[in-house]
Amino acid sequence: MKIAVCVKQVPDSWAEKKMVNGLLDREGVDAVLNDLDEYAVEEALRIVEAHGEGHTVTVISMGPERTSEAVRKALSMGADDAIVITDAGLVGADALMTSKVLASVISSGGFDVVLCGTESTDARMSVVPAMLSQRLGWAQLTFAGSVVVDPAASEVTITRVTEDGVDTMKAKFPVVISVIEKINEPRYPSFKGIMAAKKKTMDIRSLATAGVTSESAWSTVTDSSLRPARSAGVKVIDEGKGGEALVSYLAEKKLI
Ligand SMILES: Cc1cc2nc3c(=O)[nH]c(=O)nc-3n(C[C@H](O)[C@H](O)[C@H](O)COP(=O)(O)OP(=O)(O)OC[C@H]3O[C@@H](n4cnc5c(N)ncnc54)[C@H](O)[C@@H]3O)c2cc1C
Repeated sequence: MKIAVCVKQVPDSWAEKKMVNGLLDREGVDAVLNDLDEYAVEEALRIVEAHGEGHTVTVISMGPERTSEAVRKALSMGADDAIVITDAGLVGADALMTSKVLASVISSGGFDVVLCGTESTDARMSVVPAMLSQRLGWAQLTFAGSVVVDPAASEVTITRVTEDGVDTMKAKFPVVISVIEKINEPRYPSFKGIMAAKKKTMDIRSLATAGVTSESAWSTVTDSSLRPARSAGVKVIDEGKGGEALVSYLAEKKLI
């Protein structure tokens, strides 16, 4: 069974994010492996560990050159190898282009299962897994809270918590799955894992070697402005009429 995990490098959650010419400044800030993708890497490792020898985990990421730093973290967690697609033609790539590039690499890689996080912490669009399965023509099982793989039957079963209860969904290989935060507890890379990751294969591809022709983005950020600083808010000193003051404030704001 060949498992691929799609991971994105994003600005550190604590970093001050700024837009430069409609693009997120990815150079001037610390960059990390997207938090939510660590759960996908961990789930992939647990699946192959549960089924013994002969199963592999490949990490796939599209992004600027330094994306390999984040990918190295996934390799040090235990993934076997990696494919990084980086190209000047991908600056400002939208979700459609991202899914096109990833689908091209995945379709030529002989993978059975693709795992993703539910969203990136920078753009938070939560669309790439669905776009991937559409482009590949594969089944998709999204927002999985648990994943059980039966390689012999080429089948995956997930559970998904919804407002109405818990869904149990099944699909045959090949399949795209997105896993929720807290599906597991991602392992910390051990010193041995970090050292081993330095020797693992990281196949760096351009658009051409990924078999994709660059296309102009369907959506571009034309302008952006900082969110106004949060105002102090109204302070009510309760000298017996606090309740009334609260009701009139809520009424004034048409909240009641
Ligand atoms: C502030 C901002 C606003 C943006 N607005 C738009 C917009 O309106 N429309 C638009 O089309 N694009 C937009 N983008 C670009 C978009 O972020 C990228 O195209 C991105 O790669 C896909 O969207 P996402 O990060 O929201 O991914 P999600 O759909 O949120 O990501 C879900 C999962 O897909 C996988 N994944 C996502 N990106 C990658 C990657 N590069 N490599 C490998 N795996 C990946 C990961 O497993 C991730 O957990 C914006 C980017 C930023 C920073």
